[in-house]
Amino acid sequence: MTWLLTGPTGTGPVVEGHFCRAFAPAGGRVVDVACARCGDGPLLAGDLAAGDEAATAVVHSWLAGTGWRLAGPVCLECVGELSR
Ligand SMILES: [Zn+2]
Repeated sequence: MTWLLTGPTGTGPVVEGHFCRAFAPAGGRVVDVACARCGDGPLLAGDLAAGDEAATAVVHSWLAGTGWRLAGPVCLECVGELSR
């Protein structure tokens, strides 16, 4: 699973983690970002799961930066298939 976490101060707003759901970062809520087409997507933890405006902006910029289409949202792979 890809996780998006708030980076330590000074390293940027988002760090990617790769571990399975059972090894979720300790504490707090977890929010799924699901592709509208395939249901895949990163999990948000920490401050990014708060769902407030700042967190949403950070998540959206990460998604856009990795090739997601925010309308949907649709993941990188599905964007590629839809444009075929
Ligand atoms: Zn998808």
